[in-house]
Amino acid sequence: NPLDRSSRIYVAGHRGMVGSSIMRRLHETGYLNIVTRDRAELDLLDQAKTAEFLSSEKVDFIFLAAAKTGGIQANDTYRADFIYENLMIEANIIHSAFKAGVQRLLFLGSSCIYPRDCKQPITEGDLLTGPLEPTNLPYAVAKIAGVKMCESYNLQYGTRYFSVMPTNLYGPNDNYDLRNGHVLPALIRKAHEAKVRGDANLAVWGSGMPRREFMYVDDVADACVFLMEQGIGDGMFNIGTGVDVTIRELAETIMEIVGFQGGIIFDASKPDGTPRKLLSVERVRALGWEAKTSLRDGISKAYEDFLSRWDR
Ligand code: GDP
Repeated sequence: NPLDRSSRIYVAGHRGMVGSSIMRRLHETGYLNIVTRDRAELDLLDQAKTAEFLSSEKVDFIFLAAAKTGGIQANDTYRADFIYENLMIEANIIHSAFKAGVQRLLFLGSSCIYPRDCKQPITEGDLLTGPLEPTNLPYAVAKIAGVKMCESYNLQYGTRYFSVMPTNLYGPNDNYDLRNGHVLPALIRKAHEAKVRGDANLAVWGSGMPRREFMYVDDVADACVFLMEQGIGDGMFNIGTGVDVTIRELAETIMEIVGFQGGIIFDASKPDGTPRKLLSVERVRALGWEAKTSLRDGISKAYEDFLSRWDR
C-alpha cells in the first residue's frame, strides 16, 4: 500500500538538513506515526544495534536520509570516512529493513553519482556509463552501492525500495562550515561576514565557471513524500529544478540578497570539481511533480535561517 495516515514511518537522519525537512513535510501533511532515533540513541554504523532497532519497531516505511555529507573539500580530504560511513549506514539500514520485513524504503542519493563528463541534462539512465569525478568519488561509490542494494533486494527478495537523486540542496539546518560545507551555505556566510567587516571582496573558490543546479531542501522533501504517496516501489528518480547557474552567477545573486556590495576574487588554488551537473527531471515530471521554490526565494529563506542561528 502507498503511504497513508496510519503508516508507521522511520526517518533515518531526522536531524540533518534533508531529514529535518522530511519531518516538517510529514508533520504538516498529517503523518504523525513517526519513529526517530538520534545519534546518541542509535549508532547507524553499528550493524547489530540497527538490526535490533528495526526488528523491534515494526515500521512500514523508511526515508533513508542519514549520511555523511560535505562539500568538495571535505569529500576530497576525508575520503575513507566518506566511503566507510556511507556504505555502513546504507548496508545496515537496507539489510535490516529487509530482514525486519519493511516493504517500502526511499534511499536518498546524490547527483554526484553520475559520470563526471556526462552529457547534460543527466538522465537516470546515465548511471555507470563513465568515470566519476575524482574529488567526491568515495562518496559517489557509496551512494551508487545504495542504489544497487535497493535494486538487488527488490529483484532477489521482492522488496519495494527505490532511490531519489537530488541535485545540490540548501536550506534550513545547512552546514555553514567554511571548510567542510557546500558552496551555497559557505557563500552566504562569507558574504554576510564580508558585509559586516566591510571587506572589499568576497573570496570564491575555483574559477567561478563550473555550473551547478541548486534546490531548496523543502522541495526535495515534498518530492520524497509525493513519491511515497504515489506508491513508487522501484527505480531511481532525479529531483532538481531543471535550471543551473555558474558559480559566479550564484555568488553575485547571494551578494545581492545579503547586501554585500564589494567585488569577487577567485581562488584558483581550490578545485572546480565537475564542470557541470544539471539533472534531467523528465521522469518525475511525468508523474506530475515539479520544484516550486525559485533560487532567489530559496536563498532569501536560507539567509534568514542563517541569520536566526548565526546572529553575531
Ligand atoms: P560539488 O558540487 O560536489 O563540487 O561541491 P561544492 O558545493 O562544495 O562546490 C561546488 C563548486 O563551488 C566548486 O566548483 C567549488 O570550487 C565552488 N566554490 C566556490 N566557492 C566555494 C566555497 O566557499 N565553498 C565551497 N564548498 N565551494 C565553493
